Amino acid sequence: MSIIRFNALHETLHRKPIKIIEGEKRSSLFGKNVFNKNAMQQYLTRAAYDSVMDAIVHGNKIDRKIADQVAVSMKDWAMSKGATHYTHWFQPLTGATAEKHDAFFESINGSLAVEKFDGEQLVQQEPDASSFPNGGIRNTFEARGYTAWDPTSPAFVYETTLCIPTIFVSYTGEALDNKTPLLKALQALDLAATGVCKYFDKNVSKVNATLGWEQEYFLIDEALALSRPDITMTGRTLLGHLPAKGQQLDDHYFGTIPTRAMSFMQDLEQECMLLGIPVKTRHNEVAPNQFELAPIFEEANLAVDHNSLLMDVMEKVSKRHHFKVLFHEKPFAGINGSAKHSNWSLYSDTGVNLLSPGKTPMKNLQFLTFFVNTIKAVYEYQELLRASIASASNDCRLGSNEAPSAIMSVFIGSQLSQVLDELENVTKGKLSPQEKTDLKLNIIGKIPEILLDNTDQNRTSPFAFTGNKFEFRAVGSWSNCATPMTVLNTIVAKQLKEFKIEVDKLIDTKNLKKDEAVFNVLREYIKASKKIRFEGDGYGEAWEKEAKKRGLFHNKTTPDALKVKVSKAVVDLYEEMEVMNKTEIEARYEIEMAEYTKKIQIESRVLADISRNHVVPTAIIYQNTLLENTKNLKEIFGEEYQNIAKEQIELIMVISNHITEINALVNKMTEERKKANTQPVVKSAALYCNKVKPYFEEIRYHCDKLETMVDDNLWPLTKYRELLFTN
Ligand code: ADP
Ligand code: MG
Repeated sequence: MSIIRFNALHETLHRKPIKIIEGEKRSSLFGKNVFNKNAMQQYLTRAAYDSVMDAIVHGNKIDRKIADQVAVSMKDWAMSKGATHYTHWFQPLTGATAEKHDAFFESINGSLAVEKFDGEQLVQQEPDASSFPNGGIRNTFEARGYTAWDPTSPAFVYETTLCIPTIFVSYTGEALDNKTPLLKALQALDLAATGVCKYFDKNVSKVNATLGWEQEYFLIDEALALSRPDITMTGRTLLGHLPAKGQQLDDHYFGTIPTRAMSFMQDLEQECMLLGIPVKTRHNEVAPNQFELAPIFEEANLAVDHNSLLMDVMEKVSKRHHFKVLFHEKPFAGINGSAKHSNWSLYSDTGVNLLSPGKTPMKNLQFLTFFVNTIKAVYEYQELLRASIASASNDCRLGSNEAPSAIMSVFIGSQLSQVLDELENVTKGKLSPQEKTDLKLNIIGKIPEILLDNTDQNRTSPFAFTGNKFEFRAVGSWSNCATPMTVLNTIVAKQLKEFKIEVDKLIDTKNLKKDEAVFNVLREYIKASKKIRFEGDGYGEAWEKEAKKRGLFHNKTTPDALKVKVSKAVVDLYEEMEVMNKTEIEARYEIEMAEYTKKIQIESRVLADISRNHVVPTAIIYQNTLLENTKNLKEIFGEEYQNIAKEQIELIMVISNHITEINALVNKMTEERKKANTQPVVKSAALYCNKVKPYFEEIRYHCDKLETMVDDNLWPLTKYRELLFTN
């Protein structure tokens, strides 16, 4: 074993899990470091509390005097939790989180030192943010950007800093972050969904989207991960032969959690509890060293913030446990990838889950309304939904026969399919009394009963109905779920808005009763969106063919998928729903294309480096050993050596072959990279995708072959079996 690997493995095997002592009850830790309702009630005056609650529920402005009061109380509360600094915490378009810490400390006249924090500092900041991606927005407008307090996501203290969730916008008001469009999409959804809810219940005055994400990840020992330049630089392995044992025995899924991983999880969960992230579920995933963590679902904006925060906390906690946490969607070829299943539903402020069938036919008509409108929205905007989950890393996972394909489809289960099929066939226009009874009793009335035993979950579907929510499974583990959530809520908002217009028209012009009008429009929607419904096996070629026949879109790669984001239909959609304007849309497109390009560029460089500077030299050393051996055999045995050293000679030739191929392929790949680098970003992304990336597999093939023939003592890269089975 090479000295690098030996040292790394030695370090790993001698690591003991850190003992986590749990003193207090978990529930008593919950939200301790969050400026939540409880804390606000304790620290704020009644007027200030009411004003903040009003901002949270109705989106009303908080006036400056009140903001000053809130700031002072927030500071006092934060200092009681040991905070010395504060930061506006935001999500720039890098997909990660950003923060710049300022101390509360201020000195007056150079002598008197005090802790100060006022409304102005709470409400708005101007970070020098010129290095965040802006897709040209700040070049065309103003150089400055500012952050503004989002009172709907509570402030929290983490590592002695008061973190205030904020939006991040340019001086001229264009959103430079992921949160602003999400908040606007949620607002659009609220408006449209509340309007539709009023058909069924006049008391509804607000609808919230909910999100429950399931975060999958790998835990790799830090020393082993650091010994691999590809993991360190790209978050995934670019080389590595499959081990004899992978996940084929299915012995990891839901198995006993390894002690070191368990200690990491306990530590992480404690941190999450303090930060008010309601983590609930933990288990082993399918692949060795792969795990999942899921919280209790929350309002979507808060859930997105919590997921971003969680990923930061996971990085920090993993370091304490000498792990490297991998969020990449496909860190290991041939082994299960990681997702961030995003469970989504709609709740009215009267406490009803709009995607949960009710007890009465009327409640079920409401359920069907939101259910069918969601399916129709996915059908109409399938390409945009696909684009919302596109990234260089998720491309490695989608469609690789253990993850949903890049074709968007909706799974609803055989029984609900039957309900929709029956509804589709009821007469057009006014319903006869008999039909009304049939509808209520036979079709709509039996939904809850059906759902009770509707357990046929289809794991291959990218977007599945799971009883009382939709589960968007194509979302990647590394992504910020703000983007898919923005798209999903926008398209459903648009669909519901259209639905209401059509229903109202039928009531006004055709003199139909409300539920008949609702039903008539739904029936047309069921027909119109039928093609997106798919109950079969979503893996494999048969579905690809079938989807093509149905006219569904299959945008396999990120550059292909992203194009739709700047199409006229999408720009119109976002502008109509007031989620983003054209400048913001185009900026995001450019940023995402550039990010894709850079990711593939980095991977290509790292691959060239490790194949040329690690693999080839090692192969040559081993080849020399073989040559030496052959020469010695010849010296002793004369011409007879040809028989005796047959294997060695063959191996020498094979190794030469692989070395030649690797060198030639790396050269060609580098040439393609050079060409791609001279092009503007959209063209460059396409070249990286179609001309550079295809070399990855080819180069890998030769390197992985060499791994199987070169002396294990010499091989410099930590092997899959060591990465995946040591902890
Ligand atoms: P699995 O998909 O692994 O079988 P569950 O269906 O129990 O697991 O739940 C997965 C996630 O779905 C959890 O994070 C949970 O909080 C979330 N979830 C459950 N109900 C809703 C809902 N109405 N809206 C959003 N998320 C939900
Ligand atoms: Mg799930």
